[in-house]
Amino acid sequence: MSKVALVTGGTRGIGAAISIALQEAGRTVVASYAGNVEKAEAFSAATGIQTLKFDAGDFAECEAAVAQISAEQGPIEILVNNAGITRDGTMARMTRDMWDAVIDTNLGSCFNLCKLTFDGMKTKKFGRVVNIGSINGQAGQYGQVNYAAAKSGIHGFTKALAQEGARFGITVNAIAPGYVDTDMVRAVPEDVLGKIIARIPVGRLGQAEDIARGVVFLTADESGFITGSTLSINGGQHM
Ligand code: NAD
Repeated sequence: MSKVALVTGGTRGIGAAISIALQEAGRTVVASYAGNVEKAEAFSAATGIQTLKFDAGDFAECEAAVAQISAEQGPIEILVNNAGITRDGTMARMTRDMWDAVIDTNLGSCFNLCKLTFDGMKTKKFGRVVNIGSINGQAGQYGQVNYAAAKSGIHGFTKALAQEGARFGITVNAIAPGYVDTDMVRAVPEDVLGKIIARIPVGRLGQAEDIARGVVFLTADESGFITGSTLSINGGQHM
């Protein structure tokens, strides 16, 4: 039987490419999302991938979603914590709500879904967790104390949980993407984006598929000796 994979934020951008790549790798994929239902349904119709709407930052909603997926598809053995948002602002402009939203969605979601799937993976003596961090969690970024803290937190969370999973056949890794051509980056003003691209040694933005290939590699059955690692996929822009 093919293993069940949950990809949060898996219906668009990087997450959509991850969902499709995992499906191509023979996994049974459930792609979660938080936004527009029609767009998610269109993604599902085009790919045949099941979609499920829930807030990955909300523990109770995650609990209900994990129970539903387990009942319908079987236990989740591959978890890709990809859901993420930005709410940028300098410290002068950043509100407590902007802080909480970014920490809850980007980092809290990793806790919620790992907490809810880890015991099942232990029982199976198999699990693959990939948390999507960011180059901005490695280097920091002006106007992003919330996002940089959440993503940096993901990298520490990954290393710590990897130690807990290691004896049970569960690997926990992170990917730190550089700048990838998605809605998130298209929101950056053009002049700023031009400067960003000029600093990427490969000379272009990443494509969502560049990140998805890393997820397929880290979640492969054969990748059991890779854990606690952060794979930087950034066109050579190492921090
Ligand atoms: P995107 O905005 O296109 O997609 C984000 C996805 O997260 C969407 O599918 C959305 O529905 C989902 N999401 C948002 N809030 C959610 C919530 N509360 N519950 C469930 N799902 C939620 O962004 P993207 O560029 O594809 O980014 C995907 C991941 O990669 C994010 O974690 C982001 O921080 C990270 N990342 C992106 C870049 C980049 O350059 N695009 C760089 C580094 C890291």
